[in-house]
Amino acid sequence: MKNEDLNTLRQRLLDARQDLMARIAQQRGGALGRVEAAVEQFGQSDDEHAQNITERDLAFAIDEHESAELNAVQAALVRVREGTYGECVDCGQTISLARLQATPEAERCVPCQTQREHRH
Ligand SMILES: [Zn+2]
Repeated sequence: MKNEDLNTLRQRLLDARQDLMARIAQQRGGALGRVEAAVEQFGQSDDEHAQNITERDLAFAIDEHESAELNAVQAALVRVREGTYGECVDCGQTISLARLQATPEAERCVPCQTQREHRH
């Protein structure tokens, strides 16, 4: 993948994460202080520390759907950092750029995703 494409996708993931965090914060009045603190952290950093905050402090507190989405976005950012972004987690094939542009957090190529959905 070209650096330019990777940077664009990474930025979209960061934006998506920010949006999800904000939405979750709005939904969850009770956990607001905590979520806001994490959003602030997230705004400044995408390192391991930020990931730990999501998993530890937020996983229990947020809407299941958005939580799953946030986890997918976060996992994609980890793959960007590790240099494996854009590779299918199942078969290791390169995921097409068109698919990543449509779904930047996609972790599987289309055939593997289809197979997985049929299994469930
Ligand atoms: Zn695959």
